[in-house]
Parts: sequence; structure tokens; C-alpha cells
Amino acid sequence: MLKSFFKYVLLTIGILILVVLAKTFLTKSNQVQVKTVPSAPVDSNATKHLVTAIQIPTISYDQENEIDRNAFLKFIAFVKNTYPNIAGKLNFEIINQYSLLIEWNGKNDSLKPIILMGHYDVVPVEEASSKQWEYPAFSGTISNGYIHGRGTLDDKVAVISILESVERLLKKGFIPDRSIIMAFGHDEELGGNNGAKMIAANLRNRKINAEFILDEGLVITNGIVPGLKAPAALIGIAEKGYATAELISKVDGGHSSMPKKENAIVVLAEALVKIKNNPMPAKITEPVQYFINDIGPELSFINRMAFSNQWLFEKLILNKYKATNTGNALVSSTSAATLLQSGMKENVIPMIAKATINFRLLPGDSDSDVFQYLKSTINDERITIKLSKDFNLATKISPVNNKAFSNISKTIKQVFNNTIVAPSLMIAATDQKHYDGISENRYRFLPVQLDADALKGIHGVNEKIGVENYHAIIQFYEQLIQNSCSKSN
Ligand SMILES: [Zn+2]
Repeated sequence: MLKSFFKYVLLTIGILILVVLAKTFLTKSNQVQVKTVPSAPVDSNATKHLVTAIQIPTISYDQENEIDRNAFLKFIAFVKNTYPNIAGKLNFEIINQYSLLIEWNGKNDSLKPIILMGHYDVVPVEEASSKQWEYPAFSGTISNGYIHGRGTLDDKVAVISILESVERLLKKGFIPDRSIIMAFGHDEELGGNNGAKMIAANLRNRKINAEFILDEGLVITNGIVPGLKAPAALIGIAEKGYATAELISKVDGGHSSMPKKENAIVVLAEALVKIKNNPMPAKITEPVQYFINDIGPELSFINRMAFSNQWLFEKLILNKYKATNTGNALVSSTSAATLLQSGMKENVIPMIAKATINFRLLPGDSDSDVFQYLKSTINDERITIKLSKDFNLATKISPVNNKAFSNISKTIKQVFNNTIVAPSLMIAATDQKHYDGISENRYRFLPVQLDADALKGIHGVNEKIGVENYHAIIQFYEQLIQNSCSKSN
């Protein structure tokens, strides 16, 4: 009896191992085979232009009165002077004083335009961290093959690369068959309400329905995806949502010389601990599923085995993601306590305590999910939960099986040799959140090549880009425009 039981167990394990191995080995690559295309070399003037752009301190400060608006005007003048064909031949419009909307009309009115986005404002450099920079943040110093400075990754490099590519195409006599709209906001780092939002309103008024929109977003990662040797170009096909909740605990106060066991502060603190210990459930949403499907077959054996056998290893995969902050943000609606308020005197027990919790929502999670989650997790009627009216659901998920997406992937492979392409989820917000209704096909990608160390430069210290990488970004936009705006497309 026992013997046949063990036989049965062994047989089951054997079959399981066979299935797992078969699935691992039978998973085929989803990567399309595309050859790199030769592209005219970028001349050194392009490098000088990015350096000059970095040197103009278009800094977005939270306090409007700290912002140097002359720098923004100087930047616009620099664009006009540096790109005479763009300024002279295309529709060059300034929106709300500082944002740019430039349109290159295509031959064929019946074709939808494409929209290339970027922003030219940058975040400030903290006084305390400025000494940690190898070179001053607004110097644009070139050293060891890198251009150093604030904006070399986020996001002047996109604005300047788009302008360089269009200027190159104009000089070459290229005529697009569909229109190319360039939209450059001036306040993305403050939420884009004065820039991108106004540009989007202008486009909506004109009933623009774009073939696709491409804005900053995910990048080409090097050595960041575990088990992947090749660089991975990740294209954001959706952006997480945003919600804020206020928790208010009310408990009768009294004198601190004869305190009750609980008071408003303690009750609130307990609620916060419950939230920390019981996060919203992790799950694999559609964009991350696409990522797994496309990256999985390219991974080293163990990782490929897990990704190819999601039916068995889903929990393991989720736990692996949850172990890091970035991974966790990809598979969870996250929450962070950001504000805390209570008390007015050291010997008076307050009757009220308030905390603010900021949520970043996965596609599919709604404000009512957040409310239900908080209510059931806290489970304490002394605490009132109020959701702020100012929330955004995650954006709609853009398709990956259309011409627009395949043109972007093809272009990446044409310019960046041996790069794996996969869709993914964008954790942070971009100016594209203002572009609802302008296109079904909204993508977030900028081909800067980053390893874990270089990633820290974004909003951090020692932001820099390789000169070669910058030149390849110009070639990427040039190729993308040709792929998307020529006859066969
Ligand atoms: Zn940015």
C-alpha cells in the first residue's frame, strides 16, 4: 500500500518535472528579427547643442516665484536659432508662453499624425547634494565620452534629439506623408498643468486623433532584468494611477496625567501599522504579463523556467518582484504614508489625529478598491476614511499588436543592436496623463541606455549620458519618423 503510494508520488513528480522542462524548452522567442540599418553619422554640432541646452537652467521649482522664467525664454530662443529649418519651415507655436508645439505637415491629409513628446524643464539640484556632482550640474561638461548635467537623461535629451532628427530630415529633403507633431512641455516636473495640459487642449480642440504618441518613459536597461544578458528596451504601455486617502482618528482626549489606554494618536498609529503589514494584494496585470511573455524566452535557464511555467511559479514570481521596491511597484498598488498631523501641546492628549496615505494604482484598481481595502484592513470605526477627489485611475492599456507598436519595436532593433524589446508598466507619471482622447496608441519610451548606477542620475546626482548613446537616440527618432511617415507605412 505504502509502496504504491510512493510510486504514485514519484510518478507525479516525474510528470511535473517533464512538463516544466518541456514548457521551458518549447517557449519560443517573441522577438522579431530585424537587422540594424546604417545611419548617417551624427556630427559634433549635435553634441554642442545638447551641451548648450543643458547650460540653460530651466528649473521647475515648487514655488513659482523661484522659477527663472528668463531661462525658459532663452531656451525657446536657443531652439529657434539652432534649428533654422524647423523654426522657418514648420508651424512653430508657443503655447501658454513657454511650451512648444511644432508641426510638420504631411503630404497626405487623410493619414493620422504622429506625436513626439518631451519636456525641457528639469528638477533642481539640492544644495546639499551639489558637492557630490563630478561636474557642476548645469555645466554640460564632456568627459570620458559622457555629457554631464541635469537634463541629459530627463528629459532635455529627448527634446534635443527629436529636434536634431527633424532638422536632419528637413536638410535631407525628406517629405513625410503623415504630419509630425512635436510637443514640448515646460512644467512636467510640476505636473504639466500649464504645459502639456494646455498643449493637449489645443490638440483636442483641433480634433487631432494621432496614429501614436511617444513620450519619455521606460528606457533600455542593462543588467537590471534578472537573468537577462542582453539590453532590454521596455516600452511603457500604461501608467499607474494615483489616489490619496486621509485617515482621521477621533478618540476622547483628556489630561495626560491620567491617560486612557488609547488615544487618537495611538489608534491612528495602529491603523498605519496594519496598512504596512497588509499591503494590497500583488498581481500580474496585462502590461507585466506582456513583459513576462516577451522577456521570458530570453532569460537564463532558471529564470526562463519560472517565467515559462507561470501556472506553477506565479507565487514565486510575485514574491521575487515584491522583494524589491521597483519590482513591488510593478505588481502592486502601493501605499505610502506621507503626512501626519496631531496634537498641540505636550501635556494635552489630542482628540484627533490625521494621516495622509498616497496610493499608486495598478491598472484595474479603482478608488473604491482603495476605500474597501482601507476599511477592511483598518477595521476600526474610530477611524474615518476620506478619499481625495483628486485621483487618476491608471491609464488605459495601449495595444501591442498594431502597426504603431511594431514600428517602435522595429526602430529600436534597427538602431540598437541585439536589444530585446518588451512592453511593460510605467510606474511614474508623465505628461501623457493629460493626453486622454488624443490617441489609442500611447507609448512611453526613451532609448537612453541605463545600468543600475546610471539610473540613480535621474532626479539624483551625476546625471549623464554617453555621447554615443545620445547620437543613437537622434538616429532612433530619425528612423522612427521614416518608418512611420513614409509611403509603405
Ligand atoms: Zn521627465
